[in-house]
Amino acid sequence: MNVEAIKIQRTSKILDALHVLDRQASGILLLVHPEGTFERTITDGDIRRLLLSGKTLEDTLAVLPIMQSVVVPEGITRVAALELMNARKLNHLPVLDETGKVTTVLERRELDQQIYLSSPHIGTSEREYVDEAFRTNWIAPLGPNVDGFENELADYVGIGHAAALSSGTAAIHLALCLLNVGAGDVVFCSTFTFVASVNPIIYQGAQPVFIDSEPESWNMSPVALEKAFAWAKREGKMPKAVIVVNLYGQSADMDPILALCQQYGVPVVEDAAESLGAKYKGKASGTFGLMGIFSFNGNKIITTSGGGMLVSEDGDLIKKARFLATQARDPAPHYEHTQIGYNYRMSNVLAGVGRGQLRVLDERVAARRAIYQRYVEKLGHLQQFAWMPEPAWSYSTHWLSACTLDAKRSAISCSDLIQNLADDKIEARPVWKPMHLQPIFRQYPSFDHADTSVAAHLFEHSICLPSGSNMSQEQQDRVIDVIIKHTGM
Ligand SMILES: *Cc1c(COP(=O)(O)O)cnc(C)c1O
Repeated sequence: MNVEAIKIQRTSKILDALHVLDRQASGILLLVHPEGTFERTITDGDIRRLLLSGKTLEDTLAVLPIMQSVVVPEGITRVAALELMNARKLNHLPVLDETGKVTTVLERRELDQQIYLSSPHIGTSEREYVDEAFRTNWIAPLGPNVDGFENELADYVGIGHAAALSSGTAAIHLALCLLNVGAGDVVFCSTFTFVASVNPIIYQGAQPVFIDSEPESWNMSPVALEKAFAWAKREGKMPKAVIVVNLYGQSADMDPILALCQQYGVPVVEDAAESLGAKYKGKASGTFGLMGIFSFNGNKIITTSGGGMLVSEDGDLIKKARFLATQARDPAPHYEHTQIGYNYRMSNVLAGVGRGQLRVLDERVAARRAIYQRYVEKLGHLQQFAWMPEPAWSYSTHWLSACTLDAKRSAISCSDLIQNLADDKIEARPVWKPMHLQPIFRQYPSFDHADTSVAAHLFEHSICLPSGSNMSQEQQDRVIDVIIKHTGM
């Protein structure tokens, strides 16, 4: 808002005030003393009341009653300003400097803009696929969008087969079922992840063993994995599977991990829920293990509102996954069952959303990478920040831009910075709390990269910043400005 353009003095006529209100469409005028200091605000309602009380358009604003307007000092947070607006039923708040002059006017509709960590970003073609599903009454179950989405995603990542499912968690669960993981079995899993990577191990009555991260990629440490295999060999607890998680849009260092798993003859399930569109040494993330999984939850890089995909080069595994995902119905007209199954398939309507999203995936990856680059560019001078590294072998989507705050150099803690951002209606979060530190998984073994846990250290000192592909440059500047304000030297 142009503050100078809405300043007016008591010597002006009511008619002039109306003209300025009309021209500036500001909804508010600033009545100022001759020396420029602020006196009170004037709204359309104030003028209406003057006219109704018998004043004319030719009267001057001298007839306006003296009134104490609500004003705020510079530096007030967005949340505090909004609370004040709500309490006093206002849509504007003049900000005064120490000399009593208005520096800016806060507007509710501008203040109210929340910046999310990662919100759904719908393109232009999703609706066509969904409309087609409605037009042809292919609402559920399955249908041409499901087949199309499976084929198109398989083509995109360059793998033979894919099964569209109701969630990424369901995909992990089916992968473990297909590997015959059962009661008493052991499954290795990255500790630095979201709980959905681990829960399916428990669903199967198996026991997780947690593998630490390496500092180079924040993902599974081959060193920790080797320690875990040595332990498993000693204890006779060889795992039935290793779940390797690709965090925040970045692949784990797959070559040494696959070599170790091959050496011990253990299949790999790649949890690529967060890394669709990423590459490892030029090959698509999610295609390295015996099976890979993707998620289309609302916060992921593309979304079907909720959904997942299981992929593999092994067509028989994917065929079996589709069977298990549809209640394990044997091919008989009378609903014959010889196995326990699940209701895990994706609906044809949601697959339509997925097909539209897949068409803009490359744009979404480019947008998230650009957001990360911009954070690094604009905040790189702040020595207390270290950005999530991207090794030479990695092409990360930077699904979430994550960074570590060096406690020794930073005057502010991660939680304080997250609170400062929240006060400005900006959503930032701590990184995932490692699974071996979760109350529910504490009793299970875990293996560290070095003498201490790398993941635990990252958890203590790292945060994720807003990274949505639909975030504007102005919104990103808001994030950057708040961070500089609270951490800049
Ligand atoms: C989101 C996510 C999942 C689960 O996907 P859903 O589709 O939400 O079930 C699994 N693993 C990781 C690492 C995730 O981020």
